[in-house]
Amino acid sequence: MKKLNKIAKIVFIMLFTLFNIFTLKNSKAYANEDLKALYQAFFALEGEGLGWSSEIEDNTKLYFNGNYPSALKIGLINQPEGMSGTVVYQVNLSGSGWLESVENRVETGAADLNAAPLEAIKIWLSGELANNYDIYYKVLQDGEFSAWVKNGEVAGRFGEGTHISGLVVAITKKDAQAPNESKELEINIKKEQGIDPNKAMIALTFDDGPNAQVTSHIVTVLEQNKAKATFFMLGSNVSKNVSLVQRMAADGFELANHTWNHKYLPKTSVNERRNIISMTNDIIFNTTGIRPSLIRAPYGAVDESTYATFREFNMPNILWSIDTLDWKHKNAQTTIDTVLNNVKDGDIILMHDIYTATAQASSSIIPELIKRGYQLVTVSELASFRGGMQAGKSYGSFRK
Ligand code: ZN
Repeated sequence: MKKLNKIAKIVFIMLFTLFNIFTLKNSKAYANEDLKALYQAFFALEGEGLGWSSEIEDNTKLYFNGNYPSALKIGLINQPEGMSGTVVYQVNLSGSGWLESVENRVETGAADLNAAPLEAIKIWLSGELANNYDIYYKVLQDGEFSAWVKNGEVAGRFGEGTHISGLVVAITKKDAQAPNESKELEINIKKEQGIDPNKAMIALTFDDGPNAQVTSHIVTVLEQNKAKATFFMLGSNVSKNVSLVQRMAADGFELANHTWNHKYLPKTSVNERRNIISMTNDIIFNTTGIRPSLIRAPYGAVDESTYATFREFNMPNILWSIDTLDWKHKNAQTTIDTVLNNVKDGDIILMHDIYTATAQASSSIIPELIKRGYQLVTVSELASFRGGMQAGKSYGSFRK
């Protein structure tokens, strides 16, 4: 009898292991979308200051009104799980020559007011990615795009006193044919003009929208005050508010991910979690041409497994330092008092753009904060002046 028990135990363990291997395999099956490049450039905006372009996706032309790029960031999406490697790139900056290579979304070049233009670039894949994919790229120089080059070859003529005006990056399966014709897209440039790194700045954030009435009221107040904010949207609300969402993107508000349907993420399966995050990123991207780079977990609830999923999407989790509890009391004056009595430099303030009382509160809060000398910036802008962010980590404020 004892022996039988032992055998049953062993069989059970074997079955359990097999089951685990099977489900593990299954969970990997999600990465069936092709590996793609995501890239953005820093452009000098004639007469309007300078700024980073929005992040654009694989095989899309990135150039802006005859201005030149002076800095670059390149990343990847849909990297197959367990496949090592990343994207590596190197720029030739006018007056400085080839800079050290960097990888995976690290900034290279010069993103400042007196930036020199880029003259040439090289891009390649590392690790196992290099064995499975080719990375192609071309540059806009003297009014036309060069032919494709790939895997670390030089694109652009450097040392001749010319510069590049734009670029395209595209990834194909190893030894497949060269990419198709590149897409044209209207490029949004985030104007960073006006942000003084030495002055106080805070990020207003609005969750659970967009909502036709409340969000458009808040957006109007922000526009009238030349202020920015970040909106953590539910993907399921986007299709009901397409023109509003496009207006928000065009005005430089940050559109961020709050999942499709406000699920408590630690209780979701990995696959469901991936779906409700990627569907939200996709609908915002398909509506505006801008892919969200930030997520806020509903209820702020995260566990180790949730963080792992956020890392797959290359997204930091944004929490808050002032909670207005506007959803609970739905009282405009309480929201106003909570913000104005507690606000300090580097705060991230949590509100919800689905309550009329919050819309009313924003009419007072926004001009008053500006009167007090605060710059109202997006979360990504705030982070960029205060040490930056990493995927799969949480941030509740960005202090000096
Ligand atoms: Zn929420």
